[in-house]
Amino acid sequence: MESKQFGVIGLGRFGSSVAKTLSDLGYEVLAIDSSEERVEEVKDFVTHAVCADATDEQTLKAVGIKNCDEVVVAIGQEMHNSILITLILKELGIKKVWAKAQNDLHGKILAKVGADVVVYPEKEMGVKVANKMVANNILEFIDLSDEYSILEINIPPRYAGKTIKEIDVRAKYGFTILAIKRGEQLVISPSSDEVLQVGDILVLIGRNENFKKLERDIG
Ligand code: ADP
Repeated sequence: MESKQFGVIGLGRFGSSVAKTLSDLGYEVLAIDSSEERVEEVKDFVTHAVCADATDEQTLKAVGIKNCDEVVVAIGQEMHNSILITLILKELGIKKVWAKAQNDLHGKILAKVGADVVVYPEKEMGVKVANKMVANNILEFIDLSDEYSILEINIPPRYAGKTIKEIDVRAKYGFTILAIKRGEQLVISPSSDEVLQVGDILVLIGRNENFKKLERDIG
C-alpha cells in the first residue's frame, strides 16, 4: 500500500509542529506558507516546502496539492484566509481537510464550508493542562466526547498486589480498564484475576462525571 501524503498550509507554531511531526513519522509532507521566512524554517524537515498564497486555486493545483490525501489548514489569525482555503481544498476534492479554529465561530464556519475535522489547539491543550493540574497521578487524558474520556493513571501504592477484581474500579468509579502498561509490556484487556504490580499504569475509559471521584481517591 502506498503511504499517505499530507499537506500543511500555514507554518506558524501549530502548522510547523504538525509538518515536522508528520515528517518525523516518515510521511511525505507538502508545506505551504506565503511567508518566505516560515518556509525557510521548515524546508529542511519536509519533502516539499513552497512559498505561495494558498488562497489562489491555480497555485495550489500547480504545487500538486491534489496529490495529498489529507491537508491541514493551520491559519488562525487570518480567518478569512483559512475559510477560503478550506473551501478551495474541498472543491478540489481533497478527501480529508483538517482546519485549525481560533474560536467557536471560526470553527462553525470552517465546518460549514466543508472542513472534515476542526481542531481547537489552544482550547484542547487548556483542557489537558487543567486536568493534569488537578490530578498529579493522571499521566494522560484524552477527551473522547463531552461524556467520555480515556485516562492513564499511576496506580496508588495500595493497589499493588491486588487483583483487578479486588480494586473494582468499575463498581467504585464507573471506569473500565482497557490495558495495563507494565514497563515495556502492555497487557490489553486484562482479566479480572490479573495482579497489579508496583509501577503499573492503568489505561481507563469512563464517564467524565465519574472522573472527580476517581481523582479524589486516586489522583
Ligand atoms: P500560529 O498561531 O499556529 O502561529 P498563525 O495564524 O500565526 O498560526 O500562522 C499562520 C501562518 O499562515 C503564517 O505563517 C502565515 O504566513 C500563513 N498564511 C496566512 N495566510 C496565508 C495564505 N493565504 N497562504 C499561505 N500561507 C498563509
